[in-house]
Amino acid sequence: MNLPYLDHLTAEHLCAPVWVYDIVGKRITWANKVAVALWEADSLQTLQARDFSGDQSQAVEQTLLGYLERFQHGEQLDLWWEISPDGICKRVFTRLSGIHIQTDQGERLAMLVEAMHSPELLNNSDIPSAAMAVLFDDKGQLISCNPPFTRQFGDAIQNLKEVLTEHDAATFIQGMGSLGRDIRLNTLRGARWHHAEITIKDAVLKQGATLQQAPHLTTHYALTLIDIQERKQQELEIAREARSDFLTGLMNRRGLLQYMERFESSPCTLFYIDLDGFKPVNDTYGHSTGDQLLCELANVLMAQPGQKICARVGGDEFVIVFLEPSPRYQTEAQAHQLLKALAAPRRLKAGCEVRVSASLGIASLPADAPDFPTLMVHADAAMYEAKKQGRNRAVSYQPGMESWLRRRAQILHHLDEAIADNCLALHYQPIVNGDSQEAVLIEALLRWQHPVLGPLSPLEFITVAEESGKIAKLEAWVIARACQDLPRLRQRYSARIRISINISGANMVQPGFTDNLLQTLTKHQCNPSDLLLELTESILVPVLEEQNPCLQQLVHAGFQLAIDDFGTGYSSLAYISQLPARYVKIDRAFIKRLDQDKHTLLFIRDLCNKFGMCCIAEGVERESQRQALNKAGIGLQQGYYFARPQPLED
Ligand code: C2E
Ligand code: CA
Ligand code: CA
Repeated sequence: MNLPYLDHLTAEHLCAPVWVYDIVGKRITWANKVAVALWEADSLQTLQARDFSGDQSQAVEQTLLGYLERFQHGEQLDLWWEISPDGICKRVFTRLSGIHIQTDQGERLAMLVEAMHSPELLNNSDIPSAAMAVLFDDKGQLISCNPPFTRQFGDAIQNLKEVLTEHDAATFIQGMGSLGRDIRLNTLRGARWHHAEITIKDAVLKQGATLQQAPHLTTHYALTLIDIQERKQQELEIAREARSDFLTGLMNRRGLLQYMERFESSPCTLFYIDLDGFKPVNDTYGHSTGDQLLCELANVLMAQPGQKICARVGGDEFVIVFLEPSPRYQTEAQAHQLLKALAAPRRLKAGCEVRVSASLGIASLPADAPDFPTLMVHADAAMYEAKKQGRNRAVSYQPGMESWLRRRAQILHHLDEAIADNCLALHYQPIVNGDSQEAVLIEALLRWQHPVLGPLSPLEFITVAEESGKIAKLEAWVIARACQDLPRLRQRYSARIRISINISGANMVQPGFTDNLLQTLTKHQCNPSDLLLELTESILVPVLEEQNPCLQQLVHAGFQLAIDDFGTGYSSLAYISQLPARYVKIDRAFIKRLDQDKHTLLFIRDLCNKFGMCCIAEGVERESQRQALNKAGIGLQQGYYFARPQPLED
């Protein structure tokens, strides 16, 4: 006995079974004590005397000869193997490798077997996870197989075709070498995943022949199958998790992109949806309510008609892909229906009703993009356009919109330094008495002159600041600067002038907003009564519906509120009576249409008067408008006709 690669003593004293099997001679040439016991032998000598050529199926024989070739290349195999000494079935997890032995015919390669776990006794009900060995010919005809194979597939299998589910035998064999691959096969227990390897090809060996003597008659294949159902299921589960959104169960961005690959560039229409005002809901009611809302909205998406795929591609961003594109007018009508459904009030926890709207971008393949990833970018760009146009609307993609995404990234990048380096400025526009043209209030409007990007519209960078959570910092700067400017504004206009400041909804609902505001005022020796806070209707209404206390806190602290852009948002006139606002700023769209339609304006005026609120007309650009407003009794007016927003000169 010669064991050049194995320290004899060590092996002898190993508690795990170790033996050497001469594949060509079909005998165990050496075994340690535990291996002798494993093989149900009295001594090493009786084990060595045992001839295995009788009990070995041709399939196993061919498989082992295949292994020999692999051992020659230094390979090592770990697998469950089944042995049946004296008819007792045992399953052993083995590490197989090559070892050179001396025989009467000279030196040759044999197989060193190390049992890595304690062997398990098998009875018929056991899971046959031991390696299955099958030998078949090039027509798939079965020549031989071992018992684990019979247990898994039954003893009536004659051709490999009866086993294969996905491919026919020929294609299955092609392209699979000793590296093998995973395949789902029909077993007696249903379809199960297997790892399959072809261990020898293009040779058939007569019983007892050696590899070198093999006559190459026909092509035969020895196939090893290992049942990997449990492992594969876990793998598939992990892969599924990586592709799907844990909260809503929809696909995630990666899953969607991967899934859409199968459709290549076939026509489809994509809705890119971003919720408006989701962050305030999350901040006010906590994440569990926010999560619940997202799930409900996901259901709204799923309920959309048509063949479609839904995905959640970001915190509050969703995508629907319609696989059967319809004409543009129909698509847009559907987008509007969807926006309406999304904006419906929702009762989540007891006593809390929330409402968010959404901005939606539409783009189609192939009209708007050459491939799916580009389509996503373009629909996203259209969605941003919808945000810029005032939210709660749908916008179809037009070429060039995507440049805004790049701009948005740049804005975000420079926002912090703009605040820190004082690149921001306030411009002031008076709100005057239409009769006397004296300034009563001064609205502060934010400006950012960027050295590279040029002058930026506040609508543009305020949206970015809101989304990136930087709005509080930005508006803190605005309030501090306005307080600093107040004495000079009073010198210039009138001693009683007050500053009107625009407040973002995303900022107002932050806990501690009122307290922080009061602190800033104290620091600059100002009072709440020095300020008017302008809030848009689209912010005020949900805050009211959610019974968010922030409005009451502000009023309680002594601030006066104005409803900005009145008439453009929810237009829920029923709410106006409940809003604790002192002023209503009528959107400039109504002033513009004054010649054609005076009645809406008069209706708004009457409504405001009824609730003791004061109207301010925005966007007055002509003398005729001033006169018409004066006549209508809307005394407070603002617009380019009186003054453009201007910096406060030194
Ligand atoms: P807004 O509150 O409706 O402000 C009035 C906008 O109308 C200003 O645009 C102003 O320059 C413009 N405007 C004034 N008179 C006329 C007129 O006669 N005709 C026309 N066509 N436009 C007129 P601006 O400065 O570009 O501001 C846009 C929006 O950005 C503001 O709309 C406001 O919602 C927001 N904004 C500006 N500063 C701030 C800020 O400090 N915080 C927040 N949250 N929003 C701000
Ligand atoms: Ca305003
Ligand atoms: Ca306004």
